[in-house]
Amino acid sequence: MRIDLHAHSNASDGTDSPAELVAAAVAAGLDVVALTDHDTVAGHAEAAGAVRALPAGSRLTVVPGAELSCAVDGISLHLLAYLFDPEEPEFARERDLVRTDRFRRGRAIVERCRELGAEISWEQVRRIAGAGSVGRPHIASALVEAGVVASVSDAFTADWLANGGRADVRKHETDPVAAVRLVRAAGGVPVFAHPGAVKRGRTVSDQVIADLAAAGLAGLEVDHTDHDEETRERLRGLAGELGLLVTGSSDYHGTRKTVRLGEHTTDPEVYGALLAQATGAKPIER
Ligand code: AMP
Ligand code: FE
Ligand code: FE
Ligand code: ZN
Repeated sequence: MRIDLHAHSNASDGTDSPAELVAAAVAAGLDVVALTDHDTVAGHAEAAGAVRALPAGSRLTVVPGAELSCAVDGISLHLLAYLFDPEEPEFARERDLVRTDRFRRGRAIVERCRELGAEISWEQVRRIAGAGSVGRPHIASALVEAGVVASVSDAFTADWLANGGRADVRKHETDPVAAVRLVRAAGGVPVFAHPGAVKRGRTVSDQVIADLAAAGLAGLEVDHTDHDEETRERLRGLAGELGLLVTGSSDYHGTRKTVRLGEHTTDPEVYGALLAQATGAKPIER
């Protein structure tokens, strides 16, 4: 079983449509892929339709999920949520709040970029994002189009869009303890995404992770492209101490990142343990 529990579509900052992501997962030989767009479930219906329309002989399970933008003590972090009830009103309202604020903040970032001499526009960013939940990667693509930087990752520096960079503007982000409780109350299973991704900015302390565990966190995403081997070992130890599951996933974003679908995977037993905790939704199977 090949299980990848973190992938983005163009419902947020990935470049594949949800149906293209399903096709890519089959092509990559995955058995299970989770669709975890930032702060939105807008891609779920299309992904479900694509799975059900797969030809006989193809097998794939899509785990519906999301990746919620959180912050504590000024440090941003991401919380993966699997198999929650998308209709549950309190969690739905929180996702709405974050998504709506992404528009205000996106405009403000474009304004900052223009003041810094980058000839990009909000219309251009909206065209690039399409129906997707607007994020810095879309603005990064606009900076690439304008010839300001050579690649999306080159836009994530202190000069431009990195956390605390010249053109970075914060968005509304949920307190992670509250977020863990919202996900659980919606029947979902929360997993801390790339908790040791230092290249993205400051990361939270072990005490914060312990607080999240006490609030109902199910696991840590340990095998991730942004973690070096030492970080993985440390996080595995911490997960053991706190009784948390350990997952691995690609965090695929299509052509906006270089990582391949299925580059990191999750143990089938861990996947089974996550499924056993979920009451809000069911995986979508072909
Ligand atoms: P936002 O959600 O708008 O704050 O943007 C955060 C997203 O930007 C993350 O989910 C990643 O997809 C992307 N990102 C963050 N840091 C980097 C980086 N150093 N290189 C490339 N993409 C990044
Ligand atoms: Fe992203
Ligand atoms: Fe993330
Ligand atoms: Zn992600």
